[in-house]
Amino acid sequence: MFKRILIANRGEIAVRIIRACREMGIETVAVYSNTDRNALHVDLADEAVCIGPPRAQDSYLNAENIISATVLTGAEAIHPGFGFLAENSKFAEKCKACNIAFIGPDAEVMEMMGNKAKARQVMAEAGVPLVPGIEGILESYDHALQAAEIIGYPIMLKASAGGGGKGIRVVRKPEELRNAYDIAKSEAKAFFGDDTMYMEKLIEGPRHIEVQILADAYGNVIHLGERDCSIQRRNQKIIEEAPSTFLTGEMRKAMGETAVRAAKAVGYKSAGTIEFLVDKDGSFYFMEMNTRIQVEHPVSEFVTGVDIVREQIRIAAGETLSVNQEDVVIGGHAIECRINAENPALNFRPSPGKVNILLWPGGNGVRVDSALYSGYDIPPIYDSMIAKLITHGRDRNEALCRMRRALDEFIIEGIDTNIEFLFQILNNERFIQADIDTGFIAKEFDYK
Ligand code: ADP
Ligand code: ADP
Ligand code: MG
Repeated sequence: MFKRILIANRGEIAVRIIRACREMGIETVAVYSNTDRNALHVDLADEAVCIGPPRAQDSYLNAENIISATVLTGAEAIHPGFGFLAENSKFAEKCKACNIAFIGPDAEVMEMMGNKAKARQVMAEAGVPLVPGIEGILESYDHALQAAEIIGYPIMLKASAGGGGKGIRVVRKPEELRNAYDIAKSEAKAFFGDDTMYMEKLIEGPRHIEVQILADAYGNVIHLGERDCSIQRRNQKIIEEAPSTFLTGEMRKAMGETAVRAAKAVGYKSAGTIEFLVDKDGSFYFMEMNTRIQVEHPVSEFVTGVDIVREQIRIAAGETLSVNQEDVVIGGHAIECRINAENPALNFRPSPGKVNILLWPGGNGVRVDSALYSGYDIPPIYDSMIAKLITHGRDRNEALCRMRRALDEFIIEGIDTNIEFLFQILNNERFIQADIDTGFIAKEFDYK
């Protein structure tokens, strides 16, 4: 096992990874930008190295500085968390060239799956059902116009390098295509430095259901069941749960087996997620694979008891999976709320600043993943997600009642948050009935 791991991230996920390392007896090295000197992950790690100025480009995305910090502190492995360098295959290659274990899949596999248009082709060859759409990428606007005629409106324009719901546009009529094409392309360029686009048919009123998989270096691949992530705003998840009430045992088995087959087809190693869209009649279609730990992984941990970060570390160190498929039993129900520093009434404008008073909820079946503390000053230049609140119960209703109770206990003063909005969702009759799809928020609320 590794003696020392460097965590190339910040915020709650850096804290989450440090916790796993601590429990495994592994020393941790944190990295931080100038703004993050007082961040919790810096405090919790055994050692910390400043890697540059506030801008992510200069610090958390600065591969050279991160690798230097790793060598300097004698860490043997890097855990990239999510976002930042987590899906950057060039970075994984650099780690390998420097004899540092990258805690994730091989660079070639990341490259293949990170390019969403290419991933579709690979999955089609593996016999995985895809969202109907074009093969390959859109070469031009004229190509997009032709492709949309063939697929049939409404369609979805998607950035091949996309993530976090960015670079996606729905187009319902040919007249809207020009504008949507230009906007999606420039958004993709701005966020990912790559404006390659592809096109899918718009699935109306689908659920987003994804399967968590684990694969070791010896060809053992298992799945930890699914997560329903249909509660989204602007294609970004807000509330996730496991299991999905929509799946029958048969559908669950089929999706799990398909996800395992997909992972095997690309020689996948580490934790990963296969995202599917599931339409009203229960047909499911591959959407993308995320080759990293996901924000919503705690709901799967609650219902399976498997520590996914721990498994990632074990796999990277050359150990076999600690669980077999037969050992994976889904117990009860878990729900996660993403708590963001933002103001829903002001078009979800980020609300950074100083947290004066902070009191976490606790008690039976409550988990809080966060890097906040009383007096912490949330910097304006990073992600606005400041905490994840996760509850577990014997069934969905118990998890839901527990979530309302926990959110009610939670006190945070000094900044605006989306907590009130989360309450509105949790108290919505359709949500209570689990009558949800990805259009739920747009339909039920005035927020756009
Ligand atoms: P990202 O990489 O940003 O996560 P995804 O491809 O996973 O992008 O899509 C994000 C979200 O956009 C999905 O969860 C879903 O709500 C919506 N979406 C994506 N593709 C389609 C589609 N073809 N039809 C309907 N909704 C879609
Ligand atoms: P998940 O799929 O785990 O739910 P999200 O799509 O919410 O994750 O993304 C998690 C974080 O990673 C967000 O901060 C998001 O902006 C960032 N992110 C996701 N994909 C990419 C990407 N391809 N490039 C840069 N950042 C990304
Ligand atoms: Mg996605």
